[in-house]
Amino acid sequence: MKDIFAELISIGDEILYGQTLDTNSHYISAELDKLGIRVKRKVTVADNRDAMMRAFEEAEANADIIIITGGLGPTKDDLTKPLLAEYFDSGMKLHEDILEVLKERFAKRGRELNELNKGQAELPEKCLPVDNKYGTAPGMWFEKDDKVFISMPGVPKEMKYMMEDTIIPKFKEFYKTPVLIHEMVKTVGIQESILAERLEDWEDNLPKEIKLAYLPGLNQVKLRLTASGQDEKHLQKLIDQEVDKLYEQVGKYIYGTDDTNLPAKIGELLTEKDLTIACAESCTGGYIAHLITSNSGSSKYYRGGINPYHNDLKINILGVKKETIQQYGAVSEQTVIEMAERVRELFGADIGISTSGIAGPGGGSEEKPVGTTWVALADGKNTQTKLYHFQFDRESNIEITSNSLLNLVRQTLSSK
Ligand code: AMP
Ligand code: MG
Repeated sequence: MKDIFAELISIGDEILYGQTLDTNSHYISAELDKLGIRVKRKVTVADNRDAMMRAFEEAEANADIIIITGGLGPTKDDLTKPLLAEYFDSGMKLHEDILEVLKERFAKRGRELNELNKGQAELPEKCLPVDNKYGTAPGMWFEKDDKVFISMPGVPKEMKYMMEDTIIPKFKEFYKTPVLIHEMVKTVGIQESILAERLEDWEDNLPKEIKLAYLPGLNQVKLRLTASGQDEKHLQKLIDQEVDKLYEQVGKYIYGTDDTNLPAKIGELLTEKDLTIACAESCTGGYIAHLITSNSGSSKYYRGGINPYHNDLKINILGVKKETIQQYGAVSEQTVIEMAERVRELFGADIGISTSGIAGPGGGSEEKPVGTTWVALADGKNTQTKLYHFQFDRESNIEITSNSLLNLVRQTLSSK
């Protein structure tokens, strides 16, 4: 079995201008990956004749499968169809059956087809039409030697329908690909470089079938193990063995694999131990509550949260002492301690957590620069605190604060 390579071409000025995010190639890549087809390159090309023709030539030299999205509308700026006809040296043919379907669909909505819409039923002779349930532009499937060119509309819903209805089933039939298995091992609370140092020996001794990638995020690093070969069972066994070794070496940082996320892991631990949690969030503004409640079943362990941004509310609703805030400030160890302890009591939870920090970009001072963040966790016996000095933008400071505090919850629960 040989590797099958694909190249994806996204067409449209709007993508290059930064107005539209290229979600099509993201989706197609993931679908091809499931089929064991390797995406070798993705390119984005302007609605421009020369650029598009050059992209077709390069892709043909580069890959076995070329998947093009965009440029299929009925208007003059959409060039994919005439250019593919030229590229494959093909005349055009009117597909009466497609025209009928379009007419019926328009009639149902009380509209008549105009010339531009009728033109959608005309396709290059050398292609097989691909049904489009949600739009007027059919897709096109061309074969040349042992290469396949596929063109689909840019509209994500139409493209996805074609992938699911026609393209993926055809690929399954056409290509026998090597097996490709991914396993994502997710860590939190350890820097990428330190993790890499710890795992150096393990990495050097990985079986040749397995490739490793470090995917760093905010206080989280994912390790992706990819095994490729012929024998699925054998590959899965190899991966399982290596994941076991990872748990032996850095298990205390691992919170799960594949689809797990950190708040889900915390939900699992809380459920297992029959405990509940409540949060008082200042600088994270409810983000932690959002993360926790994004997991179904969270009502079992999540008591609720409060987001007392203003000091008045920290004092009058949550019950933080006025003197504490006056003496130490809202962003202080003393304040987060009281916030965590108060929310725990007030909300009748086993665990109370709190955040207070300067997310930025404004609001910093010499003593407490932007990124200064205190978090606390109260469990009725002890109250733990942590001080961080994050140096990201506002959004990332909020995210990393949340991840860091959730990790403290995870560590605390794991040791209980
Ligand atoms: P088109 O087939 O060029 O007429 O594309 C129609 C619409 O689909 C565009 O106006 C975009 O909003 C959307 N679109 C085109 N290409 C992409 C892409 N790669 N990812 C997501 N949306 C896209
Ligand atoms: Mg377009």
